Amino acid sequence: MTDLNSHLEKLETHLARFRQTGIMNLIGGQSVPAASGETFQTVSPVDESPIAGVAMGDKDDIDAAARAAREAFPAWAAIDGAKRKKILHDIADAIVERAEEIAICECWDTGQAYRFMSKAALRGAENFRFFADLAPSARDGKSLPSPHHLNVTSRAPIGSVGVITPWNTPFMLSTWKIAPALAAGCTVVHKPAEFSPLTARILAEIAHDAGLPDGVWNLVNGLGETAGKALTEHRDIKAIAFVGESRTGSMIMKQGADTLKRVHFELGGKNPVVVFDDADLERALDAVIFMIYSLNGERCTSSSRLLVQETIAEEFHARLVERIGKLKVGHPLDPATEIGPLIDKTHFDKVLSYVDAGRQDGATLAAGGARIGNKGWFVEPTLFTGANSAMRIAQEEVFGPFLTSITFKDEVEALAIANDVDYGLTGYLWTNDLTRTLRFSDALEAGMIWVNSENVRHLPTPFGGMKASGIGRDGGDWSFEFYMEQKNIAFATGQHKMTRLGA
Ligand code: NAD
Repeated sequence: MTDLNSHLEKLETHLARFRQTGIMNLIGGQSVPAASGETFQTVSPVDESPIAGVAMGDKDDIDAAARAAREAFPAWAAIDGAKRKKILHDIADAIVERAEEIAICECWDTGQAYRFMSKAALRGAENFRFFADLAPSARDGKSLPSPHHLNVTSRAPIGSVGVITPWNTPFMLSTWKIAPALAAGCTVVHKPAEFSPLTARILAEIAHDAGLPDGVWNLVNGLGETAGKALTEHRDIKAIAFVGESRTGSMIMKQGADTLKRVHFELGGKNPVVVFDDADLERALDAVIFMIYSLNGERCTSSSRLLVQETIAEEFHARLVERIGKLKVGHPLDPATEIGPLIDKTHFDKVLSYVDAGRQDGATLAAGGARIGNKGWFVEPTLFTGANSAMRIAQEEVFGPFLTSITFKDEVEALAIANDVDYGLTGYLWTNDLTRTLRFSDALEAGMIWVNSENVRHLPTPFGGMKASGIGRDGGDWSFEFYMEQKNIAFATGQHKMTRLGA
């Protein structure tokens, strides 16, 4: 039985132990409170009730975790690739076994709807399986013969790395960053978002129980400006894989400068979905709705700007408004719910402030725009039409169920509007004109583009953004390039002519 009541009963069972012991850090294989003994509360966005106390890690805890990761590194880097593969598959198996627990906890901690989090938990397992299978070949290189040398490249894990994750789909995103680091042979210190610590703790426990050696994966909870900052500044941490806001990425780059930190950034987006009048409008409508209102719109790849051709705009908007009115906003643990509450009050205030901004700038509020109820951070799915590219609602990442629609006349204008933002993460294109799809996708400034499709991930493809949306790509070898050092060794194949000085 998977109705709201049964999920609520299961939630109580899953939370009981966290309520008793709090959410501890995991350092060197040991569950420990923060060195300072301090804790903070994680609170559910559904009803603002406290969930559990969380270890308030700081510099000392990061230092202990970085030391544990450094000590564990040589053995983990040297372990047989096949053994590493087996452990990562064991982690994936355990994720599948505990997928329901993970999804229920994630919904309660973040407000994301169960229908999406149940899939996200299983995606976490797939991420581990994908990188598990690549582990044995992670060190492979190339043979590059030149006239007098045989050049041979190989890869070696960079060392201990810091992984810093946000609160939107935190479980899945953590697996997406940590699995390749482990497959490459790196050891990890993970600092999850302070708003969503539950599933990061479950994930670290799963890895520990699956036989990952102590110190290979360390978890330190805490605030970004203290624990997160200390991680980015630590000299034993060789690289930072970060997912979060563009502004935070820029801070991390500065913080990591003294220790010459290698950085990998997956940042914000203001992604366009461009609908031409020759498109399959029924499917385009489904995709437009899915890509902004799923995951509460708290999704880096959401298509938050609808660019719709003038000739079809009126009809498309009318159908959009009708469908928005039928979206089910409700308790995230109700399997029927499509949109849950936003993560917290600050974010809720930010999202609603964009309703004021849209009105002030002269756009038309065509749907939503208000709070639902007076408990929890529920907002109506919102649509602004009649916007233009200069407006704040067309330029800034709102990160909620909030769509801004702009009309365009022709392809040239559509492209100019699409590229007229600081971000460049994803783009979605709806048209049946083949040559236009080729031209447009080539000129569109985005790291990932889907043509006549919503966002469907294929793990071997490169994931990441351009402009203010990120630095670096993830997926297969792209991940290994970040977590590993490339080494070239040139062997002379004979007695080639050498320049002799002072001879
Ligand atoms: P955020 O930048 O506020 O926080 C992300 C993480 O960084 C948290 O763990 C936080 O504690 C930590 N942090 C904050 N300040 C820090 C500092 N000075 N030093 C080190 N760490 C620090 O982001 P958020 O609000 O949690 O997440 C939402 C953002 O993430 C959105 O902008 C979204 O687009 C982006 N995001 C991007 C992708 C992508 O793949 N491009 C995926 C998911 C989310």
